[in-house]
Amino acid sequence: MTPRTPRLAVLGLGTMGRAMAASALRHGIPTVVWNRSPDAAREVVEQGAELAPSVTDAVEEVDVVITMVTDAAAVEEIAVELGMLEAVRPESVWAQMSTIGVEGTTRIAAMATRTRPDVHFLDAPVSGSKVPAEQGTLVIFASGSELARSTVEPVFDAVGRRTVWLGPVGLGSRMKVVNNTLLAFSAEGVANSLALAHRLGLDAHSVRDAFEGGPLLSTWMAGKLSRIEQGEYSPEFPLTLALKDVRLALDAGAGRFGVLAALAGEWQGIVEQGLGDEDVTVVTRSLQD
Ligand code: NAP
Repeated sequence: MTPRTPRLAVLGLGTMGRAMAASALRHGIPTVVWNRSPDAAREVVEQGAELAPSVTDAVEEVDVVITMVTDAAAVEEIAVELGMLEAVRPESVWAQMSTIGVEGTTRIAAMATRTRPDVHFLDAPVSGSKVPAEQGTLVIFASGSELARSTVEPVFDAVGRRTVWLGPVGLGSRMKVVNNTLLAFSAEGVANSLALAHRLGLDAHSVRDAFEGGPLLSTWMAGKLSRIEQGEYSPEFPLTLALKDVRLALDAGAGRFGVLAALAGEWQGIVEQGLGDEDVTVVTRSLQD
């Protein structure tokens, strides 16, 4: 049976939320949007989204609510202070897709279940940054109530190429910190190799050419190498967000992993130089300099 098209609200129109709302609209999903600074909504409104003046207006008539904001504090502000949880319809689905870590997810899921047991809470962070979000090819690490699946499926199919269902709430965020630990080491690997190459008189082009098609270079690394080669550091995944996720991994159980802790220290230094809004590949440039 084809699932019924749900009505969707996307709360948070940063790089990811804006692109996800646009993917939903392309798939014919009626979408209401809200963002703290309403200017960010202009493009998706031109694409057919309805702009809500408040969080409560955004959610009161929809079947699925996505939150896609910076961190747990922002999610709590929307859910509690701005009244989202109070206003959502009974039996609707709240897909919390921001990266907020294991502790943040546990706390927020407990609060949601306590205050609105009639709402299905899904812990569903995503893998993939700006371009996959724009193309609707994210991977969703979904966890939570089985009962929510058929409602949310058309939305997840619109924003992602694959949904991995992991089990009870909390497992999605666990997989996300695992994923972003690998991402951090991939970024650091590219940065160290290229900075060393630079010191040895080898440029990024010759490194990419030498490694192309070999087993060491993942598709993600190859994409980053090619952007670095072009001197392109505009944010796909800003360093500040990547560092936030390393800290979430350290908090979630990697606290005694000395190399990951050292990486966080190195990245914090680069953020303090004012480079946090640039892409995570800015670590390469910083090590070269
Ligand atoms: P972003 O471009 O920095 O946007 C952040 C969004 O959060 C904006 O809409 C911002 O609103 C909103 N926000 C922040 N604090 C808020 C608050 N207190 N109350 C209400 N809204 C608040 O971030 P993004 O790249 O879209 O990332 C969103 C989430 O997805 C993050 O958890 C990130 O870690 C995760 N993620 C990102 C990527 C990526 O590659 N970028 C990939 C996977 C997952 P304003 O516009 O008003 O500031």
